[in-house]
Amino acid sequence: MAKTKTTFFCQNCGAQFAKWLGQCTSCNEWNTIVEEIVQKEGKREWKQTSSPKKITKALQINKIQRSEEDRIDTKNNELNRVLGGGIVRGSVLLLGGEPGIGKSTLSLQIALSMQKKVLYVSGEESQNQIKLRAERLKGDNPNCLILNETNTQNIFRSIEENQPEIVIIDSIQTLHTDYIETSPGSVSQIREAAAELIKYAKETATPVILIGHINKEGNIAGPKILEHMVDVVLQFEGDRNHTYRILRAQKNRFGSTAELGIYEMLSSGLREVDNPSEILISQKDESLSGTAISATLEGLRPLMIEVQALVSTAVYGTPQRSSTGYNIKRLNMLLAVLEKRAGFRLGAKDVFLNITGGIKVDDPAIDLAVVSAILSSNEDEAIPQDYCFAAEVGLAGEIRPINRVDQRIMEAEKLGFEKIYISKFNKISKKNFGIEIVLISKIEDLFRNLFA
Ligand SMILES: [Zn+2]
Repeated sequence: MAKTKTTFFCQNCGAQFAKWLGQCTSCNEWNTIVEEIVQKEGKREWKQTSSPKKITKALQINKIQRSEEDRIDTKNNELNRVLGGGIVRGSVLLLGGEPGIGKSTLSLQIALSMQKKVLYVSGEESQNQIKLRAERLKGDNPNCLILNETNTQNIFRSIEENQPEIVIIDSIQTLHTDYIETSPGSVSQIREAAAELIKYAKETATPVILIGHINKEGNIAGPKILEHMVDVVLQFEGDRNHTYRILRAQKNRFGSTAELGIYEMLSSGLREVDNPSEILISQKDESLSGTAISATLEGLRPLMIEVQALVSTAVYGTPQRSSTGYNIKRLNMLLAVLEKRAGFRLGAKDVFLNITGGIKVDDPAIDLAVVSAILSSNEDEAIPQDYCFAAEVGLAGEIRPINRVDQRIMEAEKLGFEKIYISKFNKISKKNFGIEIVLISKIEDLFRNLFA
C-alpha cells in the first residue's frame, strides 16, 4: 500500500511548508499556500538505471582537457547567439514568456527548421491547430513529430518508441505525472514532471526545451525552483502590441547571459532581425524635439535606440513622471541631477519617457540620450537626427565613460551618424573615425553644444 503524504506549497514562489499559513513567509503573498498530495511511495520515473553509478575522479587542474560543449545548431541565428552557439546536448532549457507572446511559434519554427528528429509535445493545442500553424510558418522537416499528450509516462513511452534527437514540451504547466495526485500546473506537478524530464535529458544526452508561462510579476508561473533545476532560462519578452520580440538569457550554464536575440513577429512567423538598429529608430521626415538616439550595447551587439521624452507644465499639483522601457528611479535621479547640478527647473513639470520599439534597456550608456531628450523637449528644440549619444550620467552631473566605446562609435559611423557625444574620460583606441566625436564632461557642456 502506498502511503499518502501531503505538503503545503506556495503557488506563487514554490516554497514548501509543513503546515498551512495565510501568508507565504518566502514571497509575502497572501492566500497562495495550498495543500498538495505528494505520493512518495510506489513512485517510478524515467527508466531505472541498473548500471552502477559512475564514479568521478578529482583531477589536477593542469591535467584537465578543455573541451567545447557538444552543441546542436538550431538553424536560428538569434537563438544560437543567445545560447552561445547552439543547444548543448543533454541540456534542459526553459523558455518563459507571457501567454501569446510567441513561445510556441518560436519553438515550432525551430522544430521545423532543424534537420533533426524533433518530438514536439503539446498539451495546449491539437495536432490540427499545430499543423495549421506549421503551414503558416512554411517550415519543412519530415522528422518533426507532433504529440498531443500531457501525461509524462505516456510521453516517455512515445520517446522510447520514436527516439527523438530533441524534445520540446509545450508547456510544462500542462504536464502531470501519475505518481502525484494534484492537478496539472500545481507546484508539485511542475516540479516532478520537470525532474523526470531533466533525468531523461541527462541520461540520454537529448536536449529538452520546456515552455513555461510567466505570471503577472514576470516570474515563471509555478515554482521558482524550476529556474534552479534547468541549465538555461530564456525569457521571451516584448509588448504584445509591438511587433518586436526580445529573447534574453536569464541563466546560462554554458554561456553568457548578456546576449540578446531580436525577432519581428510577422504573419509568417518570427523573422530574425540581424540589423536591429535600423528598425529601432523611428522613420520621420523632420527632426522633432524630445527625441535622442543612444548608442547602446546589448551583450556584444551594438544597438542604436531612440529615446523620446515629453516635458510639459504640470496641470496638477504633483508633477507626473512616467517611463516605459527605462528605470523610473533612474529617471527621477537624472531629473534631480538636472535640477540640482545644472539648474534646470523641472520640479514643476510632467516628464514622460519612452524607449521606442518596446525594448527595456539596462545599459547605463543610455543616460546621456535620456538627458538630451528631456532637455530637447524642455527647450522645444530638436536635436539633429544624425546625432547620437553614449555616456553614463553621475550624481554630480558628470558625464562618465562607458565600456566598449569604440564598438559603439563604429556602429554609429556605419549607420551614417554625423556626431556622437561621449565622455571626455573615455579612452578611444582608434583616432580616425568617419564620424565627429564630441567629448563632454558636464551636462552644461552638452547643453551649450546642443542648444546654444
Ligand atoms: Zn511564496
